[in-house]
Amino acid sequence: MKFMADEKGTLYLCATPIGNLGDVSARCLEILRSVDLIAAEDTRRTLQLLNHFGITKALTSYHEHNKQSKGEYIIKLLSEGKNVAQVSDAGTPAISDPGEDLVRLCIENDITVTSVPGPVAGITALILSGFSTMRYAFEGFLSVNKRHRYEHLTSVANDKRTLIFYEAPHKLRTTLEDMKSAFGGERRIALARELTKLHEEVIRTTIDGAIALYSEKTPRGEYVLVIEGASEQEEPEECFWTDMTVSEHVDKYISDGMIPKEAIKAVSIDRNTPKRDIYNEYHRG
Ligand code: SAM
Repeated sequence: MKFMADEKGTLYLCATPIGNLGDVSARCLEILRSVDLIAAEDTRRTLQLLNHFGITKALTSYHEHNKQSKGEYIIKLLSEGKNVAQVSDAGTPAISDPGEDLVRLCIENDITVTSVPGPVAGITALILSGFSTMRYAFEGFLSVNKRHRYEHLTSVANDKRTLIFYEAPHKLRTTLEDMKSAFGGERRIALARELTKLHEEVIRTTIDGAIALYSEKTPRGEYVLVIEGASEQEEPEECFWTDMTVSEHVDKYISDGMIPKEAIKAVSIDRNTPKRDIYNEYHRG
């Protein structure tokens, strides 16, 4: 059966608080009350929010691992004229959270999608960092794969825009070390944690300063890392590998945990030299 465009429902991407429940908007509550269904990243988490505001509503889960099948189901409901709100655990859907695919599906199926804006951790951290807000780049989470992290960080090392990263506390120390390798220890950083919550804190320091701080202190809570953009006059950092032979350089990455293929690629990027030449040089000894 084919539905007319005006018979279809609307998908509302509803931003929810990143900590402080007082940040939920009146419009968000109104939409959550009025839709037919709420698609939530974690239904238990969203239920707490709904209970707090005395909202009783049908919930269904929509997350990274069921987004394909559940996405089709939600599109079917929207096509039948139902209105659906999509929420993530915290903040704005589709920002390092599920939502992007559902928006695409709506567009493909000629279904109206609209946004109920609200908190975003990255923007909240950016405005508190004290760094330039004129031009910034949202970089999200770094990959857990060492090579991908390395490529990601080196690709933005000379970017003049303020850079925004998300990070979990148990990975913070490794990330700061990796950022030091890519940006240098002197680069300024703001570590914004527990935003909008009781223990909100913004630590403004350098990457070296943050490494020193967290060598003594255990990272706790959720973090946004805001890195000041590369300055116009910034001299390129002295590379750690300048005095190393190609073999020593490759071996350094292997001892850091990369497999040989990754290490050869990383060295080829560092030295701006074709991989084949690095490979041959390494295997010549
Ligand atoms: N969609 C969310 C948004 O709009 O910001 C982001 C979700 S992402 C899965 C979760 C990450 O956002 C956390 O690991 C942390 O980096 C950041 N985050 C979320 N809430 C935060 C808070 N209250 N304080 C600091 N960082 C926060």
